[in-house]
Amino acid sequence: MGSVTEVRIANRTGFCYGVREAIDRAKEAAAAGKSTHTLGQTVHNEGVIRDLNTLGIQNIDSLDDVGAGAAVVIRAHGVRPEVMARAQSRGLDIIDGTCTWVSQEQRELSRLVDEGYTIVLLGTPGHPEVTGLLGFAPDVILVDEEPEWDLIPRRKRMALISQSTQPPWKFAKLAALLTTRSHELKIVNTVCPVTIRRQEDTVELARTVDRMVVVGGRSSANTRELTRLCEMAGTPTVQVEGAAALTDAGAFAGASVVGISGGTSTPIEDLHTVAMRILELAGTPAAATHARELADAALSGAANTARSTSHPELTAAGLAHASSVS
Ligand code: SF4
Repeated sequence: MGSVTEVRIANRTGFCYGVREAIDRAKEAAAAGKSTHTLGQTVHNEGVIRDLNTLGIQNIDSLDDVGAGAAVVIRAHGVRPEVMARAQSRGLDIIDGTCTWVSQEQRELSRLVDEGYTIVLLGTPGHPEVTGLLGFAPDVILVDEEPEWDLIPRRKRMALISQSTQPPWKFAKLAALLTTRSHELKIVNTVCPVTIRRQEDTVELARTVDRMVVVGGRSSANTRELTRLCEMAGTPTVQVEGAAALTDAGAFAGASVVGISGGTSTPIEDLHTVAMRILELAGTPAAATHARELADAALSGAANTARSTSHPELTAAGLAHASSVS
């Protein structure tokens, strides 16, 4: 028999505004009757991709996959400037979903290049946002984990900037190190406030529950960081990609209250599904019977039940109806 009586969802979770805006732009283009594509997956979430596919929005890996006139949505991570230039030269209908925060990062990086700094970028190699940033400053010194920092040379004028979802503590630690490596150090703090707030709310929740479940892509750095912070708060934590991965009731043995949080690419609907799954799998008989009501309560208890889209009416059925009456 299970022991879980309550689930709680962290405040300010669900998609970050950058991801939501990019998805909104894609849905608006499809609703306007455009042949719409996303360059790379907007988020690594099967449910969201399926949802977009039902609206006729296809993912492409290369601009060569579409012909002139096709609408191509640039995702929140942004792209290298040459990708944008090539899309324009090919006559594509560019819908720029680059997050405003990432656009600002790109501008700041260009300015540092113009000012002649030796630039250190804290970021994860291969992450789409970092790949895009490198297009604005190909000569940056890109570092991620601490052991790599020893390789940073001494320079007279250095600048530090960050990928948006890097942990704030890591950025501060690297900044401190760079004060010993340079005469002049310019620090441009581009850690996204959404990331910081999410971490704060998640840790606050972790301190009040018996177990935490963090939902997000396996390769998502901001999801892994949430898991790490929950564990540092002393709360046993399980990280999963979705509800289907929760199959072991033993993970919740003895737990009464379970907290749930998710990465910036995890829709809040997934947190609700995970809440129901936990209650069905490991709830007391009463909690398992009322899994949906308890999960609904957890969702409405989160201060920001951030929408996954500004256009809930834009479904495949909705579009079909619109075209039949127009
Ligand atoms: S995490 Fe922040 S910077 Fe990155 S896409 Fe979301 S809102 Fe934009």
